[in-house]
Amino acid sequence: MAATQITTYKNYIGGQWVESVTGKTYPVHNPARNGQVVGEFQTSGAEDALKAVAAAKEGLKIWADTPAPARAGIIFKAMEIMGRRAQEIAETITTEEGKPIGDALGEVRRAMNIMEYAAGEGRRMFGYTTPSELPNTVAYTIRRPIGVVGIITPWNFPIAIPAWKMAPALICGNALVFKPASATPLSAVKLTEIFEEAGLPPGVLNLVTGPGGQVGNALVESPDVKGISFTGSTEVGTDLYAESAKRLKKVQAELGGKNAVIVLSDADMDKALGGIVQGAFGSTGQRCTATSRVIVEEDVYDQFVSELVERTSKLTIGDGIDPSIDVSPLSSKNQKDQVLEYIGIGTEEGANLAFGGRALSGGDYDEGYYVEPTIFTGVSPEMRIAKEEIFGPVLTVFKAKDLPEAIDISNSVEFGLSSSVYTKDITKAYEYINTVETGMVHVNAPTLGGEVHLPFGGLGASGVGAREQGTSAVDFFTEVITVYIDHAAEATERAKFI
Ligand code: NAP
Repeated sequence: MAATQITTYKNYIGGQWVESVTGKTYPVHNPARNGQVVGEFQTSGAEDALKAVAAAKEGLKIWADTPAPARAGIIFKAMEIMGRRAQEIAETITTEEGKPIGDALGEVRRAMNIMEYAAGEGRRMFGYTTPSELPNTVAYTIRRPIGVVGIITPWNFPIAIPAWKMAPALICGNALVFKPASATPLSAVKLTEIFEEAGLPPGVLNLVTGPGGQVGNALVESPDVKGISFTGSTEVGTDLYAESAKRLKKVQAELGGKNAVIVLSDADMDKALGGIVQGAFGSTGQRCTATSRVIVEEDVYDQFVSELVERTSKLTIGDGIDPSIDVSPLSSKNQKDQVLEYIGIGTEEGANLAFGGRALSGGDYDEGYYVEPTIFTGVSPEMRIAKEEIFGPVLTVFKAKDLPEAIDISNSVEFGLSSSVYTKDITKAYEYINTVETGMVHVNAPTLGGEVHLPFGGLGASGVGAREQGTSAVDFFTEVITVYIDHAAEATERAKFI
């Protein structure tokens, strides 16, 4: 039988697909079928990153001077191409990241939405005018691009997260060096191809694959990179933020989560259970907004736990390329090992393993990184499984006597990304909205998601810097310049204090 042809993908620098200076490549495997190699990718180093920065400096000269509505035309085109390639791109996401194909298609749609929204901003790149305190003087503001921006992204949304950084950055006139997660470079190659086909001038978008410690770090250290938009772990993001701050770079860092749902005794139980099961086990719990804690009012606790276990037991587990699958494999061996380690920690800490807890084996399961959806009950806030981000299909359940105690538990972690309450009581809903410490708050809906025209981001260890998406994306990706024009025929008497 003929060996399967494995494609070697290249970096994209200055409008050319090129090999890395290191001359090395690395393979990426399908997490559902370890024997299947998705492709070989460039193991780039700092030198490649700096070549990309130099190309971006050239690209910036053209792009920053291109009118924003003309930039919008290219982003709209990219959206159309993505729509045409939607099924193929979704299959790529599932094959290299592992998430169910339905979730992958949703991710592609989300990327298209942000492209549409960002392109629209091309006709709304507003500054403002205001009366000057001086006669015969006009005062107003304009927006300029930051310059060359580093885009550093995680593996769990390999299309949507890069798109929701790149589309706003591009409409604002920046030139980009894109460093995707090493685990999901093929999605990054395809996204770059889409922008290339849409007509982005050479150098405006550059792609460099390879280890974060080398490629990402080189972007942080380069004085020519004026801004960094990062999404990833709190650990890496904290160092990146500190190193960037030393160099006075503009940074936004979207980090980890430990998102909680509160279920009050008056909640619509069916709605709550549906949202929690989807939030905890959808995309195998590998979303930054995944539900990892549920805090249940004591008089409905037993009924809730029994129905939660019942629903979870019905989830189907398998290769996400099969549309009937609910829970697919974890995205890597590291992820699987980490999740199993936390399940061990939870058991040792004395939490009650109410469902799941095992790695799955036998048949097709032996080819992938499968762990059962897992529920711990009787969890207390000081346990590690209650505080640390597990980033997998593990749900911890707490009992609270009332809403104030439930909010205290919800707020007892260092993270503050997303949260939700299920209740029919409007007074309690507002008490929750006004006291819960997260950047995104839901009522009677899962902790997941967000809409592209609204800000996305978290508090505390979940993020720092300007919010992503919505109008705050334009604030992050532009510098505001204040202009004063004295059009008097003769010299004007001026204040001397500044
Ligand atoms: P990660 O390990 O922090 O990696 C994120 C990116 O940073 C990758 O491209 C990585 O490259 C790169 N990187 C690693 N070391 C670096 C360094 N020293 N300098 C510069 N870049 C470096 O995170 P991950 O495992 O990919 O993603 C999972 C995490 O992302 C979770 O914590 C999740 O909660 C978080 N997340 C947050 C949001 C949000 O919006 N708040 C959204 C999605 C995910 P390599 O891949 O080569 O290591």
